[in-house]
Amino acid sequence: MNDTFRSFEWKDIGDIERGRPTFGDKMHVTVYRMFHYSLRSVLEKSYGKAATKHNLVEAGRLAGREFCRHVLDPNLPSAEFFCLLKQKMAELGIGILEVEHADFENMIFIITISEDLDCSGVAVTGETVCNFDEGLIMGILEVYIGRLFIVKETDCWSNGDWTCRFHIVAI
Ligand SMILES: [Zn+2]
Repeated sequence: MNDTFRSFEWKDIGDIERGRPTFGDKMHVTVYRMFHYSLRSVLEKSYGKAATKHNLVEAGRLAGREFCRHVLDPNLPSAEFFCLLKQKMAELGIGILEVEHADFENMIFIITISEDLDCSGVAVTGETVCNFDEGLIMGILEVYIGRLFIVKETDCWSNGDWTCRFHIVAI
């Protein structure tokens, strides 16, 4: 068995057209959430909540970096870049992105994601759950801006809000 560590790369997604000629890229949110929340549950059981959140953020970060390199265009000026990000997030059904605040001088941003793939419609627990999204945003901005960011979800469906809101600041 080869257990050499290899980080996630975009090519791991594979050739979907060839592999799924009938279904292509299509799947249901139910299936995504079944995977996400069952994985989360076994991770929490084995490693606890804090470690699970941390690892979901790290997974999102890894995905975000590859997503930025392969789906977005890191060479675009900021207005076009965020426009493309918004378009791709809608196309892929991740959610409806709005940039509420963008301060490139101080590297402080606030964005919202409505109809979020991870959480919109889930039970209200009083605890934000979009840790993967936090990481995804981190990874995307890391590649685009070339700095490290802290991303904190402040509003979430699971917190009783209608939209997810993320506060972002460069480290
Ligand atoms: Zn959320």
